[in-house]
Amino acid sequence: MTVSNGSTRDEGFPASGKPKPEATAVLSRDLRMDFPRIIGGKGNHLMLDDGRRVLDASGGAAVACIGHGDTRVHKAILAQLSQVSYCATTFYSTEVYEQLCRELVRTTKGHMSRAYIVNSGSEAMEAAMKLARQYFLEKNSAEPNRTKFIARFSSYHGTTLGALSLGGHAGRRAKFEPMLLEGTSRVSPCFPYRGQAEGESDEALVARLADELDREFQRVGPSSVCAFVAEPVVGAALGCVPAVSGYFKAVRAVCDKYGALLILDEVMCGMGRTGTMHAWEQEDVVPDIQTVGKCLGGGYQPIAGVLVGRKVADALEHGSGVFVHGHTYQGHPVACAAALAVLKIIQTEDLVANVAEKGAILSQLLRERLSSHPNVGNIRGRGLFWGIEFVADKATKRAFPSTAAVAMRLSELGLLDPYNIAVYPGSGTVDGFQGDHIIVSPPYNITVEDVELIDRDSDTSKAVLTMTTMAAGLS
Ligand code: PMP
Repeated sequence: MTVSNGSTRDEGFPASGKPKPEATAVLSRDLRMDFPRIIGGKGNHLMLDDGRRVLDASGGAAVACIGHGDTRVHKAILAQLSQVSYCATTFYSTEVYEQLCRELVRTTKGHMSRAYIVNSGSEAMEAAMKLARQYFLEKNSAEPNRTKFIARFSSYHGTTLGALSLGGHAGRRAKFEPMLLEGTSRVSPCFPYRGQAEGESDEALVARLADELDREFQRVGPSSVCAFVAEPVVGAALGCVPAVSGYFKAVRAVCDKYGALLILDEVMCGMGRTGTMHAWEQEDVVPDIQTVGKCLGGGYQPIAGVLVGRKVADALEHGSGVFVHGHTYQGHPVACAAALAVLKIIQTEDLVANVAEKGAILSQLLRERLSSHPNVGNIRGRGLFWGIEFVADKATKRAFPSTAAVAMRLSELGLLDPYNIAVYPGSGTVDGFQGDHIIVSPPYNITVEDVELIDRDSDTSKAVLTMTTMAAGLS
């Protein structure tokens, strides 16, 4: 599959914001542009420094799952700060750290046995890769030759060199390609809109993709592969693309056939975002290792984690007994307190059920209002995680030229009056699939009124209407 970055900016995204008016000390993603400055956040709204109040319809990068400014989380953070603000979890432990790991394991209903807490999704992916490697070194009848990973095109697993090596985001990889891990390769994602042949059934698609994965195992040498890595619902790289039914069972079977692990990256789609606590629960598979991130802390603290299945955890426990990894701030007590508070709110308010219920309504409304638009190519997603892909030609699915920066322009437009809405844009060429998408990922606690009364001046309804208006403005 071709890899080209046709965008105007090297990172795969075009320029955004306005030119910087003055010298700055910040080394931001775009050194020549000024980004909108946020001075406040409450509930589902953000306040900008020019006095505007915008609806946060994506929770940043699908992070703010319970909205902004929840005082219950603030209290938990302050209580932890007054107890102890830091300890080095490489040599010490805290009750809050252990409790979070226990609670996370409990959410897997016995499928995972341990949790490892870090500060970002990229760190979680790095840890997952090293855990997989250590598993093969330390299990009974060690397999030290297993050093490789197979991932998928059109995926994003993080920005550090190991995680970047897995991902297929061409723009983010390009400059660092010579430095990336050699033992990683990629196969096609399960992307029905652009990857399913005309007249091809879901079963046939699954069989074809499983066969491609099987052949990739054969090509790289099956006994050299640690794991196959995939996002259950592809987030930033494609814009909320779930696989067709049966896909994950089929790839799990290929992994099992060759004795490799299955690592599922739920940094973006996990912790309730898709309508079940873990996205894999809807796929009838259980991963060996799983990462979680964004909605773990809901943005209140930087935190991510790795959930580890019994097979892998036991191998390390009975092997060297040491996971050879660690960060100064891993298992940070304040971050753990925030995550525990967010998780408690999600559980006591039964918000995952709300995600499933309101997500079904939101998806119906998005389809009703947007799908007939000539520039809306595809609407896909799950739970409260929806992607809208914009195309120049609906019949041929031809994307807009990346220089047009359609997704970025839509998101910039969204911030202006009368829209006043923040959405999460994605654009550029990702392993051959070129497209512009916008992610709509509202908080888990949206109400039925928000969704149903779409002519009312309410949060989610406004988001739906705004998306329609914005899409209409494209033609
Ligand atoms: N995996 C996935 C699926 C992601 O969406 C992201 C972030 N967008 C990451 C990993 C990396 O997470 P972070 O940015 O917190 O390092």
